[in-house]
Amino acid sequence: MNIAEWLASTARLRPEAPALLTGLDLDADYRTFADRAAAIGVALAREYGIKPGDRVALFASNCTQYLECLYGIWWMGAVAIPINAKLHGREAAWICSDAGASLAFVSDDTVEALTAASADLPAAMKTLSVDSDAYRAMREGEGMPAPLAREVDDLAWLFYTSGTTGRPKGVMLSHGNLVAMSMCYLADVDPATPQDASLYAAPISHGAGLYNLPHVRMGGRHVVPESGGFDPDEVLNLARQLDNVVMFGAPTMVRRLIDAAKRRGENGEGIRTIIYGGGPMYLADIREAIAVMGQRFVQIYGQGESPMTITALSREWHMNTDHPRYLERLASVGAAQSVMSVRITGEDGEVLGAGETGEVEAKGTAVMLGYWNNPKANTETLKDGWLRTGDVGRLDEDGFLTLSDRSKDVIISGGTNIYPREVEEALLTHADVREVSAIGLPDPDWGEIVVACVVLEEGATRNDARLDAHCLASIARFKRPKRYVYLDALPKNNYGKVLKTELRQMLRK
Ligand code: AMP
Repeated sequence: MNIAEWLASTARLRPEAPALLTGLDLDADYRTFADRAAAIGVALAREYGIKPGDRVALFASNCTQYLECLYGIWWMGAVAIPINAKLHGREAAWICSDAGASLAFVSDDTVEALTAASADLPAAMKTLSVDSDAYRAMREGEGMPAPLAREVDDLAWLFYTSGTTGRPKGVMLSHGNLVAMSMCYLADVDPATPQDASLYAAPISHGAGLYNLPHVRMGGRHVVPESGGFDPDEVLNLARQLDNVVMFGAPTMVRRLIDAAKRRGENGEGIRTIIYGGGPMYLADIREAIAVMGQRFVQIYGQGESPMTITALSREWHMNTDHPRYLERLASVGAAQSVMSVRITGEDGEVLGAGETGEVEAKGTAVMLGYWNNPKANTETLKDGWLRTGDVGRLDEDGFLTLSDRSKDVIISGGTNIYPREVEEALLTHADVREVSAIGLPDPDWGEIVVACVVLEEGATRNDARLDAHCLASIARFKRPKRYVYLDALPKNNYGKVLKTELRQMLRK
């Protein structure tokens, strides 16, 4: 099936339901949304010569046109390449070129960056700004009534990994993968309803954008904040007015939202569900989040290669405070989502038992078809359908997965593995510590030593001894940092993930 059939069907069943909003302003109901997608689909074929299977890039900041283009691309069987609008023009150009894009939809704030990198773009590639009159004329044209038929294994979404090391790789996701992800959303994450307002405060080019699918299926509202990004005050204001808000946020965003809610003496009224994931959520932070905002949280663990869909820690488990292992579960990333199996393997690929730590592997219908034009990465990453995530973790007897770290971030000191996350969890419970990232640095005696990069709370003073004593109270002596470095901020990528590689480089100098 073609995933755009969901839009066609909702437009038939609920033509007048509000579909696309910028802030509180309605841009389109479902009939208009589908008509625009159908018209874009036809124009792509007629005016740009795009055929089913051809790749069309989306290098635009969050806006409602993003969703129109996405469905327009799918409507005629083409493949969307979502590119984070904050990438450098040359990085975006490299992606367009690797994917062999025929056209890139851009926005007025990204077009310059891409044009400046024109030497790196595919020669025949055209660009069209979603803010232009030409675009507005395109979406008003005649459309074809139904999306082109597609098979479940046909490519729909070619997503380039954030590439904190080396060149990004193109993850090939099929229509079937996206259906699987959406079904898991409905079963394991949150029951989408026509009353929902899916708020895009994180980049639509990433998982947050993929979460439009279950909401299109159920006929909910899609809301892009006027700022186009994440402004905690804007989110809190919008939520009160929209009601039934559902949003995805990286842990750093949740943290900022909680700070804003505390400052305003609010509890997130109007927000039904905050789905968090994409990076570690520390126990201290989620406990505070629940204390401030109440039970509105669901966690997911996934990666581009199995988007948003490896495990989930449901609302129910966040609420089950009487369970004897409540805190252990709250610190986990939950259990396998409905279409997935999860296992832990050791260094020789052997499957490990409950409680044993090793690499997390995942298998199921959400797992990508493979990497675009990259057979070497395919053999390294996919083995008999099992996706090697590169994450280290352990499963408990009930199937809850606790992640330690990315395998390359594990610190080996004196021959023993130290998981940075444990050190970070310990330090974050200290009142002076706002953010922390633990990394390993080379050391002649120990091989590597643990270095804690700390961002202090406002007004707190540097004090290694105090932090050291705090660590000693909760983790083994050998795990505690041998050095503390105080920073104003931690380096993060566009999705809010801490760049440990950058920290290591910075401190090695
Ligand atoms: P990406 O492919 O950019 O979405 O990054 C995926 C990686 O983010 C995973 O392999 C994990 O290392 C990390 N990640 C995703 N979700 C979580 C989570 N809930 N907790 C901790 N780390 C996560």
